[in-house]
Amino acid sequence: MTDQLPHIVFDNSYVRDLEGFYVESYGEPAPAPAVLRLNRNLASELGLDADVLSGPGGAELLTGTSLPDGAASIAMAYAGHQFGGFSPQLGDGRALLVGEIIDRQGSRRDIHLKGSGRTVFSRGGDGKAAIGPVLREYLIAEAMHALAIPTTRALAASLTGEDVMRDGPEKGAVLARVAASHLRVGTFQFFAARSQTDKVRQLADYAILRHYPEVAGSDDRYLEFFRKVRDAQARLIARWVLAGFVHGVMNTDNMTISGETIDYGPCAFIDTYDPKAVFSSIDQFGRYAYGNQPNIAQWNLARFAETLIELVSPGDSETAVGKLTDELGHFPFHYQHEWLKGMRKKLGLIKELPGDLDLANDLYTAMEGQNVDFTQLFRALAGAVRGDSASARGLFDDPATGFDAWLARYLDRCAGEALEPNDRAAAMDRSNPLYIPRNHKVEEALTSAGAGDMTAFDRLLEVLTRPFETQDGAESYAEPAPAGFGHYTTYCGT
Ligand code: AMP
Ligand code: MG
Repeated sequence: MTDQLPHIVFDNSYVRDLEGFYVESYGEPAPAPAVLRLNRNLASELGLDADVLSGPGGAELLTGTSLPDGAASIAMAYAGHQFGGFSPQLGDGRALLVGEIIDRQGSRRDIHLKGSGRTVFSRGGDGKAAIGPVLREYLIAEAMHALAIPTTRALAASLTGEDVMRDGPEKGAVLARVAASHLRVGTFQFFAARSQTDKVRQLADYAILRHYPEVAGSDDRYLEFFRKVRDAQARLIARWVLAGFVHGVMNTDNMTISGETIDYGPCAFIDTYDPKAVFSSIDQFGRYAYGNQPNIAQWNLARFAETLIELVSPGDSETAVGKLTDELGHFPFHYQHEWLKGMRKKLGLIKELPGDLDLANDLYTAMEGQNVDFTQLFRALAGAVRGDSASARGLFDDPATGFDAWLARYLDRCAGEALEPNDRAAAMDRSNPLYIPRNHKVEEALTSAGAGDMTAFDRLLEVLTRPFETQDGAESYAEPAPAGFGHYTTYCGT
């Protein structure tokens, strides 16, 4: 069937430049490959022919059954701290890097399959993925992209035609995803843990050229590289928090060097504001809770910094540790800066005034214990700017205990800027989504999809692709879970 395979022009820099950082690997042939959903817009961004991709040759490629000439077909090596404990060898246990292509904008993008079969890194796992988690990653990644949060993208979800065993038999599936790269903090840790300093340097040089070429010529390039990754992560985590997103498994192998969100496992969005919100079944102590994500990002960056010590000041680890610790110590400042910048946008504030941080923080204090829907609140605040405070007040159990005073202060702050209320409110609506992947809607879509009905999935994806625009007939997608839905629990590694 090879004559039907899509023709793709690959440019595989990882294979070319980083021998010894991966193992050549092949997908397990799927008995009946079929493309379930293809992201046609993304295919076009990548310069790929969507019609060919959704045909039989495309299904072979997108399940890893057979790959076209020029593909890389490798499993990448990486290590990682999982829930704080170090695993020196993880790696792509059920994934393949198919290769890199240069997209229509001239950007280098990885095409990667998840669920394509066992590799040398599989340990006890079956190398496979089930339809539910594959569609979940597809949906959430595309929702994140529409929310303007840096993320890997979903190119396709395909069925393999065989069942995989989880709690019971489930349909086997493969996710084809696209990323700026699959370089992780854990990739650096793999080689640093083996004291392979030359390899860490080689990897850093590669990562610099690929993601931060502006520091390549600097004498202090490894320290500057660290700063770039720190800042990209500060921006990313601020955007997660501003959107109410909980990643759920911020292990160092799930933290990218590019600053894209990666590996949607047990993630979820909060309904009511709660810094302690945890959805993952295995996160018993709240390590990866909603409000703890900035702390964990800094912890992960400390692990990253450790891998760069020998590069920053060769032979003088004391100096290197001092410099890296200093840079790491600035993370909270950068994070707060990004968060406050985002909060000003959410609140429609143009000027930067000294009281803004308190104003933003005090809104969160007012929300505490009030069962306020986080996403709805910011749309309702735009309503208050337009002159109708009733819906914002209505979201609080008792607005008189704190919110009313906050709102008066906020409207006063707005009045100090020369901007028409309607223009301010319209700008706020462009920053505050009306539709996020509500947990009950995601579950409903995945349950029906598992039973062969894609209607709810398609509708949800359609709504989430335009999260800021009011869509007729989509009212229920803007609502929190019904009371009977109960606490939402998610599962990873599936
Ligand atoms: P993740 O939870 O997807 O970030 O994966 C963590 C590690 O477990 C990675 O090394 C994966 O490749 C590996 N892994 C997860 N699920 C499987 C599976 N079904 N088979 C083999 N390896 C797996
Ligand atoms: Mg992972």
